Amino acid sequence: MNQFTLGMADEAKRELQEQYNERLPYRFDAVPHGTRPGSQRLRGPAVKKHVRCLNTPRSMRANFDRPTTNCTPGEECGCGTTVVVHAEEQARERQRIPFGTTEWAASYGRRSAIEHFNAEIKGNRGVRIERGFTRVYGAVKNQVLVTFALVGANVRLLRDWHICRSIADPWMAVIDDTDDPDWSVAHARFKRRQPRVRAFHEAYYASRGRPLQAA
Ligand SMILES: [Zn+2]
Repeated sequence: MNQFTLGMADEAKRELQEQYNERLPYRFDAVPHGTRPGSQRLRGPAVKKHVRCLNTPRSMRANFDRPTTNCTPGEECGCGTTVVVHAEEQARERQRIPFGTTEWAASYGRRSAIEHFNAEIKGNRGVRIERGFTRVYGAVKNQVLVTFALVGANVRLLRDWHICRSIADPWMAVIDDTDDPDWSVAHARFKRRQPRVRAFHEAYYASRGRPLQAA
């Protein structure tokens, strides 16, 4: 099975997701087991008739829209088995949503979406919401103040969107606001390098002259 790679085209991603989706019926599904939280019972795909397997006669009575496995009759296979996994075992490997499927991609996409927004409020738009941004205590007061900051960040997001497309931002024009710097100019500004701090020996030689070199 192929892997998802960086810079993969959307089309290729969707195609690969389809391949993962096709395998969904063959997975062991997990149900809670017993009274201990985290313990799971993994049921083979034929147990709940997600596939039809000759070794699990009951599953052969399922509808024909379920895929039929190519298991050899009489030869041991996992389709009809049930495994109990306790909370301590392989916790890291559990998957709530099977990897690679369309559902997984939708869930995974939330991550980059929220990281994108985090970056926007941490400096990209001239708003820097970080520790100490508000100088009040308590969730309620903070929430009120941060709300205004987020509104501001959104206004700038909208304005920048219009700048990127060389159109006038209708909202800023309506309220006649020209306060914000033009970021295309601000970011293009020549940045002068900070002069290096002079080392002790440089200052010393400058005032007393360099010592005579040994011949
Ligand atoms: Zn089987």
